[in-house]
Formats: sequence, C-alpha cells, structure tokens
Amino acid sequence: MIHYDFSGQAAIVTGGTRGIGRAIAESFLAAGARVIATYVGNETAAAAFREANRAHAERLDVRKCDVTDYGQTEALFKALEQSCPAGIDILVNNSGIRRDSILGMMKPEDWRAVLDVNLNGTFNMTKLAVLAMMRKRYGRIVNITSPCAHFGFPGQANYAASKAGQIGLTRSVSKEVATRGITVNCVSPGFIGTDLIKDLPDKLRQQYLDQIPLKRFGNVDEVAACVLFLASKEAAYVTGTVLEVTGGL
Ligand code: NDP
Repeated sequence: MIHYDFSGQAAIVTGGTRGIGRAIAESFLAAGARVIATYVGNETAAAAFREANRAHAERLDVRKCDVTDYGQTEALFKALEQSCPAGIDILVNNSGIRRDSILGMMKPEDWRAVLDVNLNGTFNMTKLAVLAMMRKRYGRIVNITSPCAHFGFPGQANYAASKAGQIGLTRSVSKEVATRGITVNCVSPGFIGTDLIKDLPDKLRQQYLDQIPLKRFGNVDEVAACVLFLASKEAAYVTGTVLEVTGGL
C-alpha cells in the first residue's frame, strides 16, 4: 500500500461503514486522518466497523445520516463545527444504491430513490462541504461514480443517470472552486465484490468478467488507494477528472 500522511486532516466518508466506503475509511485511519464515517440504517455493519477500528477510536466518529435528507446533512456539518473546529479537509461521496429494472418496468419510486441517494445526496453533502472548505481555502472532494455513467448497462437507467449526473456535478463544481484550493474529482470503480453486486446472476457475472481485460473483479482496497491519491495534497493539480479503476473495462 502507498503510504500517505493525512495526520491533522479530517475526512468524511459517506456510506463509510461497509463495502468500498469502509475500505476508504480504514485507509484514511491507517494514514492518520480523523474520520467521520456515515451510514443510513445498517446498525450491524456500523457496530462491526466501529469494533474493528477500536484502536483508532479517538480519531473515528461513526454517525447515522441519510444523505437524501438535506436537514440531516446540515445537522451533521453543524455538529462537526464543534467536534472538528479546524474544519473538514476531505469529503468522499461514496453512499450509493441500485434498484435495477428495464425502463418500461421501472417503478417511479425506484427511479427517484436511486437519483435521491446517488445524485441528490452528492449535492447535499458537496454543497455543505464546499461552504466549509471555502473558509479554509483547502479541500478535496471525491465522488464515487461508475462506468455505467458512460456505458449505460441495460436495466440501470436510474443508476446510469445518477452516476452520469455525479460526473457533470463534479466537472461544474471543480471549476467553481478551483481558485479556493479545493479539488473535485471522481473515482469510477468497475466491478468490485461488495454487497451492492452480490445479487448479480452467475451468467451476467461471467459476461461482465469476459469483458474485463484484467479478467477479474476488483477489490475494495484497490479503489481506496485511488481515492487516497485524489484526496492527498500531492494531487493538487488534478481536478474535474474521472479516475477509472476498472481493470481496463
Ligand atoms: P454497499 O451496498 O456495499 O454500501 C453502500 C453504502 O451506502 C452503505 O454504507 C449504506 O449505508 C450507504 N447508504 C445507502 N443509502 C444511503 C443513504 N440514503 N444515506 C447515507 N448512506 C447511504 O455499496 P458499495 O460499497 O459496493 O458501493 C459504494 C459506492 O461505489 C456506491 O456509490 C456505488 O454506486 C459505487 N460503485 C460500486 C461498484 C461495485 O461494483 N460495488 C461499482 C461502481 C461503483 P448502510 O450500511 O447503513 O446501509
């Protein structure tokens, strides 16, 4: 693993208690950051994450916060003004859901739910983070998108639209805040073995594997390593971009 030094910095990782988010949160902890890991409802995963990282308890804050609810995200940032008086340095918008179905069969509530978590959640958190980061004239925002944004896998119109929306938001905001020392980028993981894709039928799983030049799914640490790079001081000249972590897909 590449060793960055994030000591003295504070990082929020949404959906940071399991899957890719957990690996990102644990990588930041290992690199010395103070970490605020959020989740929405899976108390078992949150407790297991907290327990596994007991050694870093003084730098770890696990908070329940629904990113779709602007009031809850505002309350989170308000609370962090007390617990992180030096301000937030890093935001990773990692929370995400899928509700797959072909468009003709897609329930309007499934369309809205996916857009709400993946895109509106990114807006809520990014808006508040940008306001806080502008005050300290420093910040790193990393949005976790997906190759689906440009491939548009069938059955994922809602997911693809939300992930493409994140890329558009990233590019616009990166230009708005560039002179304030804030960078905004995306990491786009390919197929990564987490709960999110555990329901993929075997046949489809094999079809996807056949298309990946590296002939394997990625792992969460390979995504976390790329997020840490974009969140580092060393990545100061990288903004408005999408880093693909897809095995060449
Ligand atoms: P998981 O399903 O393993 O974890 C999703 C996380 O998001 C959980 O921590 C969950 O919280 C949180 N979450 C869901 N809804 C909300 C909400 N309303 N408010 C706050 N948090 C919420 O997903 P992955 O780790 O696989 O995915 C992480 C990100 O990576 C997502 O954005 C996903 O789209 C993206 N991605 C994943 C790929 C993959 O192959 N796995 C490929 C490409 C992109 P809780 O634990 O409480 O449910």
